Amino acid sequence: MEHNVVVIGAGYAGLSAAVRAARAAGRVRVTLVNEREHFVERIRLHEVAAGRRPTGRPLRTVLKGTGVSLAVGRVTDIDTERQRVRLTGADGDREIGYDTLVYGLGSGADTSSVPGAARYAHTLAGLGPAQALGDVLPRLAAERATVAVVGGGLTGIETAAELAEARPGLRVRLVTRSEVGAGFSPRGRRHLLRVLDRLGVAVTENAEVAEVRADGVVLADGSEIPAGATVWTAGHTVPALARAAGIEVDAAGRVIVDGTQRSVSHPDVYAVGDAARAAGPGGRPLRMCCAAGLPMSFEAARAITARSAAREPRDLRFRYYLRCVSLGRRDGLVQFVAPDDTPHPVVITGRAAALVKETVVRGAAAFSRGATLPPARRPRTPVPHMAEEGAPFPTA
Ligand SMILES: Cc1cc2nc3c(=O)[nH]c(=O)nc-3n(C[C@H](O)[C@H](O)[C@H](O)COP(=O)(O)OP(=O)(O)OC[C@H]3O[C@@H](n4cnc5c(N)ncnc54)[C@H](O)[C@@H]3O)c2cc1C
Repeated sequence: MEHNVVVIGAGYAGLSAAVRAARAAGRVRVTLVNEREHFVERIRLHEVAAGRRPTGRPLRTVLKGTGVSLAVGRVTDIDTERQRVRLTGADGDREIGYDTLVYGLGSGADTSSVPGAARYAHTLAGLGPAQALGDVLPRLAAERATVAVVGGGLTGIETAAELAEARPGLRVRLVTRSEVGAGFSPRGRRHLLRVLDRLGVAVTENAEVAEVRADGVVLADGSEIPAGATVWTAGHTVPALARAAGIEVDAAGRVIVDGTQRSVSHPDVYAVGDAARAAGPGGRPLRMCCAAGLPMSFEAARAITARSAAREPRDLRFRYYLRCVSLGRRDGLVQFVAPDDTPHPVVITGRAAALVKETVVRGAAAFSRGATLPPARRPRTPVPHMAEEGAPFPTA
């Protein structure tokens, strides 16, 4: 009898896990559940906010010929006793049973930590919010208004640069509690600051945002930054469904998994992507990024198909290679890193880096649809290609 695998969440990690697990057709039957009919290229959402047309594809098209069945609906409950998920969609409520569940619900923006953020701030948590931000920018640019981007991590940096380049009338201010690009090498950080400056992005570092209002942000020292719109990129949150189901999670709600992406509390549950907490180099949790989420999905699919054939899979072997940052469409930063993600002095900057980043972004979408690299073309060096087994896999 076929093993019934249900994957919830069709982001990079869930889609990739579903397509790969379905290759064991005959032993494994796969259903993919997603709240929307389209795959959203989430790592392009800052581009969408800046005016780019969304590039996501209909999941039915992506899944053609893969053997994966699609169920469109929002998962509202997981019953681990009865091995069923409940979803609600256009056809009303229904349940789907599973032998193995893959939890790939991703993450969203955490707007709960500061008063006013949930009400007044824009986010890039999904296609709808990114388009809503994009809708207000032409007017704000015409008024030469300020947009405050809160958060000095990768998403904040990419967003500030993208908006400033695409909407030259806009005054963009990047506000962060620490330093912009704190985790980069000195050369890398210098490049980030130089490009932000060239694009006209004002940077406010070491500033704690205490409140978001309709007309700007208030800092912990009481000073105010007036803004026509605020974009919140400071922190992520994950869905509460795993915790509610009694699956063991960390403090943030990410499912704690072993080296094969299997839940440490529920052997019939796997987790992949942002919603999974997997131990990486040095035992530190893998970052929320495609570069970690995709290898997690490869591992989950491998482990599920191996176990369906009564074989024991080996653990995921993971190391970091690169961090890639887009700085608008014509510049970027590629930061080489040690296996544990600490930065090397070596960086690539400028157009070459923008090209690398674009290649990696396209590669992430292709890999989530099931692309593999022929063994002969696997790179010897950590360039922007991706490989499956034992994987050099760059950080987009
Ligand atoms: C603007 C931006 C830029 C980024 N740039 C980079 C980058 O350059 N490099 C990088 O590595 N990472 C980047 N990231 C982070 C990256 O997007 C995430 O790490 C990645 O998307 C995680 O993949 P995932 O499959 O775990 O989740 P997601 O891509 O978030 O997918 C989750 C899926 O689950 C669905 N879902 C959620 N809840 C439910 C439910 N209850 N029922 C049904 N379906 C549900 C969602 O609709 C979605 O389809 C960026 C993020 C943003 C916002």
